[in-house]
Amino acid sequence: MIVTSFKGRKVALFGLGGSGLATAEALVAGGAGVIAWDDNPDSVARAAAKGIGTADLRGADWSAFAAFVLSPGVPLTHPKPHWTVDLAHAAGVEIIGDVELFVRERRALSPDCPFIAITGTNGKSTTTALIAHILKSSGRDTQLGGNIGTAVLTLDAPAPDRFYVVECSSYQIDLAPTINPTAGILLNLTPDHLDRHGTMQHYADVKERLVAGSKTAIVGDDDSYCSLIADRIEQAGVDVLRISRRHALKNGLYAEGTKILRAGGSKAELIADLEGIQTLRGSHNAQNACAAIAACLSVGVPAEEIRAGLKSFPGLKHRMQPVGRRGSVTFVNDSKATNADAAAPALSSYDRIYWIAGGLPKEGGIASLKPLYNRIAKAYLIGEAAPAFAATLGTDVAYEISGTLENAVRHAAADAEKDSASGVVVMLSPACASFDQFKNFEVRGDAFVALVAGLDGVSMLV
Ligand code: ADP
Repeated sequence: MIVTSFKGRKVALFGLGGSGLATAEALVAGGAGVIAWDDNPDSVARAAAKGIGTADLRGADWSAFAAFVLSPGVPLTHPKPHWTVDLAHAAGVEIIGDVELFVRERRALSPDCPFIAITGTNGKSTTTALIAHILKSSGRDTQLGGNIGTAVLTLDAPAPDRFYVVECSSYQIDLAPTINPTAGILLNLTPDHLDRHGTMQHYADVKERLVAGSKTAIVGDDDSYCSLIADRIEQAGVDVLRISRRHALKNGLYAEGTKILRAGGSKAELIADLEGIQTLRGSHNAQNACAAIAACLSVGVPAEEIRAGLKSFPGLKHRMQPVGRRGSVTFVNDSKATNADAAAPALSSYDRIYWIAGGLPKEGGIASLKPLYNRIAKAYLIGEAAPAFAATLGTDVAYEISGTLENAVRHAAADAEKDSASGVVVMLSPACASFDQFKNFEVRGDAFVALVAGLDGVSMLV
């Protein structure tokens, strides 16, 4: 995508990681004069090699800049503004990010092309991927990007009948003052990233902006922050569609078990049933599905096409991902669960679990998972957290200290095979960071998949 909104003007840019570099290139291609900088000399050298102007912004003439483009990873407000932010403020230069540049480009080129933006504390990537899958599998020109991994400015340029599905972190929303999606989704709000937002209220205020600017706002009704936001923006005249995984609504979409119902009029209408869709198990995924269905309906996708897309959703890697099967045992990779809160939805979604957990422990451990212990047939503990997790499980849950992932997979698979119950899973849902034994959660999940593939008689699903 070429960014034309700063043609012939000078723009400062800080942060030359993947999305920063793509942004600089899109600005340069559109005729802006870019001065880019980063703390990492390698990133500066890489940008310079691509023909992008670079200079230390400490010595720049900020009065000459029409805008300052900041990478979302750099602090705008908390714990304290980055030095570039102070310089921009002092010179009265507006501070924006790549999502804002996209929004302006869309406004200029194709203001009516469908743009679905997704935010929330949990479930953003799943919902984003699900919407993109429904649109794509029903034959629509679908552009998927944002926080999910593909920088938004590397997508194709806005055009009529081109659908954008963009995951937005709160940092990206903070840098997108005029964001105006066709359908904006706010899934849920729980305390997170407060180091970067100061207070829960500030975090909620930032998230609110995405739905406040939407033509149709799809807002979760399952936590008090989101419910208040829905009421407030509705009063301000926004078309609000509420969703709930927990209770019936008079208006909007809600889940009753696996059934997704649309309320309104005299009788709720069954829109879809998630029964049997392995990649959308659990009530958290019912919330994600409600949001995805609401967004697709609001941009004109017929319910039949939505149902077909839900059924064929391949799911995301490392999030409750079924990866292999042996007899009646399913192997599930939930490596993304890097703390107890993230492991809880996965543990809630299965009834008989041979649970592989551990790694680098997070504050609070796994004590909060106690209500789910009855689902755990046995725990296989790995990494630094193993002794502490063993102490927490005590006599409530059978466990072994496996030490390594390799031992854990082998032992869990052997035990699960002897279990005659139905719906048995061997699941890696570590409730820990990976860094004591793996580079990151992706590498840990891939190692799990490779170990499962190495077991005798397993048919792989990935
Ligand atoms: P995000 O992109 O917001 O981090 P993901 O879709 O990647 O969210 O899901 C990450 C983890 O969050 C999942 O493995 C699951 O444990 C949990 N999760 C997913 N959807 C929800 C939801 N709607 N509510 C609460 N937790 C969820």
